[in-house]
Amino acid sequence: MSPETADRACTMLPPRVRRDGVGDALASNVDRIAQISECDEVSSNHFQPLDSGLVPRFAGMPTFMRLPTAQPEDVDVALIGVPFDSGTTNRPGARHGPREIRNQSSMVRRVHHASGISPFDLIRSGDCGDVPVNPLDLQDSLNKIAEFYGRVRAAGAVPLSAGGDHLISLPILRGIVSGSPLAMIHFDAHSDTYDNFFGTSRYNHGTPFRRAIEEELLDPKRVVQIGLRGAISDAANYDFARAAGVRMIFIEELLSRGTEDVMAEARNIVGTAPTYVSFDIDVLDPSFAPGTGTPEIGGITTREAQGMVRLLQGLDIRGADLVEVSPPFDVGGVTALTGATMMFELLCILAHSFAQRAKNSV
Ligand code: MN
Ligand code: MN
Repeated sequence: MSPETADRACTMLPPRVRRDGVGDALASNVDRIAQISECDEVSSNHFQPLDSGLVPRFAGMPTFMRLPTAQPEDVDVALIGVPFDSGTTNRPGARHGPREIRNQSSMVRRVHHASGISPFDLIRSGDCGDVPVNPLDLQDSLNKIAEFYGRVRAAGAVPLSAGGDHLISLPILRGIVSGSPLAMIHFDAHSDTYDNFFGTSRYNHGTPFRRAIEEELLDPKRVVQIGLRGAISDAANYDFARAAGVRMIFIEELLSRGTEDVMAEARNIVGTAPTYVSFDIDVLDPSFAPGTGTPEIGGITTREAQGMVRLLQGLDIRGADLVEVSPPFDVGGVTALTGATMMFELLCILAHSFAQRAKNSV
């Protein structure tokens, strides 16, 4: 077997076998063991997507971006599903987001056509599975999510998550923040800094960033929200964010100034601080992303979204999420495809940032 063929064959093996090598559950499979031995000799980086020249994109197990499954301890960027929508106030379904995004992510290829970033050559990335949430107990789910991401942080990995509704960002931040609060660039039609719904519910997908600011997980003066729009239920809805110093950029300002000017300001706000990126799919116009819980017309295009995420390159990014894809409201998988493609855009930025940190620490 040539080195190239062995390397490609290697990506088709179950990751447990690839990590643990010979002597695993497949020890009796002589052919596979021979294959594994060759893999170990020819490749030090097993974390590559399945080669579509060997396995068609519609075949195989639908992991994120056709990567091997992995433990957070083994990767630099951990791709994680959070199938949770117990924080949804109206149209549910985002709990099914990770599975459909995985499915559509089989269309993701290796190299970014504009930036030239080839994330799988820069860092190790794998599908770390879904967080084991409890759909019948919101607080138990929040605890389980925070615990999982605490493990990701302890492993030194950077998470890229697929939701789930937007409440998942709160326990993710609880898990990954230790010490200083993070800066954040937040793409959304909504500020998600409301206080409560139904009088008593302080934990839902309209409140995660208020709680995160209160818990000092985010530095509000280094938080910028982009794409806000839509009627609000109370004129005071934005008071908390405004008073805290969050920079809110409404769609009208974005359209009049243009995406590059706005992103220059966003970069300036977060500066060199460790930064989290949260991308709510409803920042897009529902004509591009109909499969979501709280659609608002008058949103940005997918081209504008891609352009803005690309302008994050060079920032110190410590994690990102892509939330609110709700497959039951989707049409032909377009929202899940958009979510998967935006995850690839985010992965390129995360990989570049991780590689820069690694280079600078040498
Ligand atoms: Mn949101
Ligand atoms: Mn939203």
